[in-house]
Amino acid sequence: MKHQAKKRFGQNFLTDQSVINSLVDAIHPQEGQTLIEIGPGLGALTKPLLSRVTALQAVEIDRDIVNWMHLEYQMPAYAKNKLTVHNVDALKFDFSAIGSHLRITGNLPYNISTPILFHLLDHLSCIQDMHFMLQKEVVERMVAAPSTSAYGRLSVMLQYYLQMEYLITVPPEAFNPAPKVESAFVRCIPHATLPFVAKDTTLFAELVLAAFSQRRKTIRNTLKSFLNDDDFTKLGIDPQRRAETLSVAEFVVMCNYLYSAD
Ligand code: SAH
Repeated sequence: MKHQAKKRFGQNFLTDQSVINSLVDAIHPQEGQTLIEIGPGLGALTKPLLSRVTALQAVEIDRDIVNWMHLEYQMPAYAKNKLTVHNVDALKFDFSAIGSHLRITGNLPYNISTPILFHLLDHLSCIQDMHFMLQKEVVERMVAAPSTSAYGRLSVMLQYYLQMEYLITVPPEAFNPAPKVESAFVRCIPHATLPFVAKDTTLFAELVLAAFSQRRKTIRNTLKSFLNDDDFTKLGIDPQRRAETLSVAEFVVMCNYLYSAD
């Protein structure tokens, strides 16, 4: 079957075998583990992964690809119940229903990568680790340190829950069709124990959102509905600072101060 790549599903299929090998090596799949692949597409990662693990569950939105998979993997993967394909939108998929210690991976559709990351945060207790191919610029934001241009809401929200590692930069030519941007492979591991615990994670998310809503403004301005100058003095945080200079720990301190003040 010849598959025409669909732009609306962010289909950029990996074709460079040496890149594929390094990704699989980085994932380091092992017998006995349950792997979940988001967006398996035409199997660039699925096939080498299937040869190394006991079970693989794929979440794929495109019905044409799912039909192709049924034919392609009929033997031996399906016969051995090794491969399960869920023809659903990963954004709506209940990952926790699959089990625990999940190892999730995928060359993600770039147009929905941030919503997928946030969706996965809701299922962290059942996740062992995640390895994703994303737009390089997004990976840079995920791992960014305070006071750098890439640091923002995504960095704070993900670093609160995850330890992350930038693994490999991948050029557009490694895909077909080639995306317009460079890509990068990232590893995300949920913190075994959260380094800083927010007493109210909804409030934490609201604070982070408000602080970064206008990057160029001071937090005295962006956080004025939460904290006044007195509060900032008590917290020992200079209200003249901008959100991009605040560490995850400082956001947590502000959140817990507000929580206790209520
Ligand atoms: N892993 C393959 C394909 C990557 S392209 C490879 O590396 O070659 C992205 C894949 O994600 C496509 O198969 C696309 O159909 C699928 N996809 C896009 N949006 C999705 C969604 N919301 N849920 C699940 N899969 C999705």
